[in-house]
Amino acid sequence: MAITPLMPVYPRSPVRPVRGEGAYLIGENGERYLDFASGIAVNLLGHGHPHLTKAIQEQAATLIHVSNLYGSPQGEALAQRLIDLTFADTVFFTNSGAEAVECAIKTARRYHHAKGNAHKHTLITFTNAFHGRTMATISATDQPKLRDGFAPLLEGFTVVEFDNLDAALAAVDDNTAGFLLEPVQGEGGIKPASQSFIKGLRQVCDEKDLMLVFDEVQCGVARTGTLYAYEQYGVEPDIMATAKGIGGGFPMGACLATEKAAAGMVIGTHGSTYGGNPLAMAAGQAVLDVVANDEFMASVRATGERLRSALEQMIPNHDQLFESVRGMGLMLGIKMKTDSRAFVTYLRERGILTVAAGDNVMRVLPPLVIEESHIREFVDGLSAAAADYEVPAAA
Ligand SMILES: *Cc1c(COP(=O)(O)O)cnc(C)c1O
Repeated sequence: MAITPLMPVYPRSPVRPVRGEGAYLIGENGERYLDFASGIAVNLLGHGHPHLTKAIQEQAATLIHVSNLYGSPQGEALAQRLIDLTFADTVFFTNSGAEAVECAIKTARRYHHAKGNAHKHTLITFTNAFHGRTMATISATDQPKLRDGFAPLLEGFTVVEFDNLDAALAAVDDNTAGFLLEPVQGEGGIKPASQSFIKGLRQVCDEKDLMLVFDEVQCGVARTGTLYAYEQYGVEPDIMATAKGIGGGFPMGACLATEKAAAGMVIGTHGSTYGGNPLAMAAGQAVLDVVANDEFMASVRATGERLRSALEQMIPNHDQLFESVRGMGLMLGIKMKTDSRAFVTYLRERGILTVAAGDNVMRVLPPLVIEESHIREFVDGLSAAAADYEVPAAA
């Protein structure tokens, strides 16, 4: 047999981590990597954080899973905490980001169904978006690399240009359920939407009773310097998907909604065997214990500013490679003049982990707990790598 034991859907790199220590990963043969990828914006407390580790250990020894047949004191407590911290009135827990987006899509459709408007089933979505790999979430994008070979896709999505309010408004018709977007696009290349775009979408949703659905799976949970990115836009969604950082590495997500938006999500309409189990709730609580306070958020903003300005100072020295830095908080992207994927590979060989993204961007997604020394190590390492880098011949 030629097929690999792991279904060969990933071009896996030679990095084979077996242990983590704070902002570092250690490979099978003891190699050390500075981890400015954080498992793709997941490990926001770094690796082996004592509070998260202890919470998971204690809960694992107490109660791991019971199913949603029973009452959930653990789920109620974390849901209430998220409600107190956000726009939301109610929460559905999932095991992943795509499932959180799925629940958000179902909630938006059910809202209109519950009002007797089942024809309002189409969500307007945006170019270069990424919402996950399930059938609904790939149907919500226009990207051939996600969709090829999986037809027939789901109906009910209209894709228009990101950050183009006129295009979004022009796409609204009698079948529109609402808008689904990442306020800061992640996989698409660290692109924050403009304030006027987000405000304009909110306004038309209010006027036409449409659902504004945010996918904050990547940009949420303190990554941008506020618990959720929407806070910085001064615009609240009706429905929001969160995941990645929320479990600090434990697989979990959530769909948050206002009471109004969740009007159709009554008994029997949705479910998940694992979703919200006690172990996941303990991980979520531990993450919020650390991040959900003003001091932590201020430190993410300050660290983000320092990293960004260090990168901005370095860029002119290597302007054959780097164009600019963009993003918010510690969700940063370096727009490159050469292939970002090839450079990410080169950096990795030199012991620094980052993530490539669309639009020829290299994502810089460190744990949110990094210190000055990590910034210096990263920027010095990046600068030295850039000096030595020979741009590969075009393929
Ligand atoms: C990663 C991501 C998802 C999908 O999350 P999974 O946990 O991989 O299912 C959805 N939306 C956004 C914005 C993401 O970055």
